[in-house]
Amino acid sequence: MWKALQDRLPTLEGLSKRNIHVESLTCKLCWEGTENSEHLLTSCYVASIVWDFVSQWCGIPNIYTFSVRDLVKVHKKAFNNKQKNKGVQAISCTAALVYLEI
Ligand SMILES: [Zn+2]
Repeated sequence: MWKALQDRLPTLEGLSKRNIHVESLTCKLCWEGTENSEHLLTSCYVASIVWDFVSQWCGIPNIYTFSVRDLVKVHKKAFNNKQKNKGVQAISCTAALVYLEI
């Protein structure tokens, strides 16, 4: 998540910014947006499916965020219980790691 916040993920846009040739910047998961950290974790259709599963599993309202910065803070207001919020944080970070390995 730290790398996503810094926009340091090896996304197609990130590779392109480092002068690595890529055929297209279009997200290969949804074919609708530019593949960058923000898109992959917040606005990509596949991300919305992942966050729906995470929110259902954790028993919290659906996760809708518009930035990685907002996504990182989702767990802070999930419950009025620090231990439960740490659980939500662990689950969402793990889900993001697994999802980004796709
Ligand atoms: Zn996408």
